[in-house]
Amino acid sequence: METADDLNTRLVAAERELDALKAEVARNDAKMHRTQQRELRLLHADDLQTLIHELTDGLRSSHSLDHVSIVLCDPDHDVRHLLLAAGTPVEGFDGLLMVESLTGLAPQYVALRQPWLGAFATCDHQLIFPQSRDLASVAMIPLTHRRELIGSINLGSRDAKRYTRAHATDFLAHLGVIASYCVDNTVNRARLLRSGFTDVLTGWHNRRYLQVRLNEELARARRDRHHVVCLMLDVDHFKKINDSFGHAAGDAVLQELANRIDAQVRASDIATRYGGEEFIVLLPDTEISSGVKLAERIRKAIAAAPYQLPGGEQQAITASIGIAGVTPDADADVDDLKTIGESLIARADVALYRAKSDGRDQVAVDEG
Ligand code: GH3
Ligand code: MG
Ligand code: MG
Repeated sequence: METADDLNTRLVAAERELDALKAEVARNDAKMHRTQQRELRLLHADDLQTLIHELTDGLRSSHSLDHVSIVLCDPDHDVRHLLLAAGTPVEGFDGLLMVESLTGLAPQYVALRQPWLGAFATCDHQLIFPQSRDLASVAMIPLTHRRELIGSINLGSRDAKRYTRAHATDFLAHLGVIASYCVDNTVNRARLLRSGFTDVLTGWHNRRYLQVRLNEELARARRDRHHVVCLMLDVDHFKKINDSFGHAAGDAVLQELANRIDAQVRASDIATRYGGEEFIVLLPDTEISSGVKLAERIRKAIAAAPYQLPGGEQQAITASIGIAGVTPDADADVDDLKTIGESLIARADVALYRAKSDGRDQVAVDEG
């Protein structure tokens, strides 16, 4: 028969078990809350740059980790170029690794379908944690795109007990699903944004891009007391090409013409297709005299040799160029800069009109 003492002992033991369970529930609650908060922040990241920061620095601080890295497989250099085009190259992100293939990077990638938790091994994990060799345990959370493994989020801790095979992985698996979705979403957004700034025919930036960059360049010129030059170029009698040889021939001429302009300008110049057969090249930190020299070089390069048309014909092409320049006042505000930009383009357009009426195939400078 059970004595009162036995009963008491059992009761105390049961209470202790209950307390332990309650503490576990509270810990899980806190963990779930923290994970949910983190996932919300990922879902709220509007662009790839913010998302990468949330996934690296964000996870590191919210989960009190020693190191977090992200590996992304980018075989076509697509994501790398998107980041570069946005002015935020991969090299600027601590903990982001962009690779052409996951093979050989860490043995776990061979079968990473669920989070992998375990001891840090230098030989296995040094490539995914290039900045950190003193970790003790690791969680590798798969990132997927249409069920294909495209990389991982890697959580590293100096605490050997933080991630072991015995730990449950459902929180981390959930985080991986959300993060995968967010990567896909922000990469698509970046693509869309970029396509909105790109001209399909020439691959050059378009008028929308020019408007954004013009504002930025004028603000920079105001700060640094620099002169900005605008070249506006229009193909002479372009309509005749279309009328005589068809639109495909016109398109081919525009592509070749863009290549010839490209060969003359510097990387820091902003070359855009402004409209149909009109191009604008913005020259930051340039005086009018240098602008005129460049315009002459471009004009000559365009007229230098006939254009090969798709139907086999050859056609000589010329273009006219108008030039204007400005140094924004030091006290110009945002609205002023907008007006200054509009007037810069309008003055280049007037100069271009003069180059046309004076006989085409020439450069004219704004007289205002
Ligand atoms: P001007 O010397 O005065 O500039 O004469 P123009 O014939 O070049 O001038 P206009 O502006 O009248 O004609 C431009 C033509 O360019 C009209 C338009 O159909 C054509 N165009 C615009 N964009 C494209 C394009 O992407 N492809 C082709 N093939 N033609 C285009
Ligand atoms: Mg025109
Ligand atoms: Mg024209």
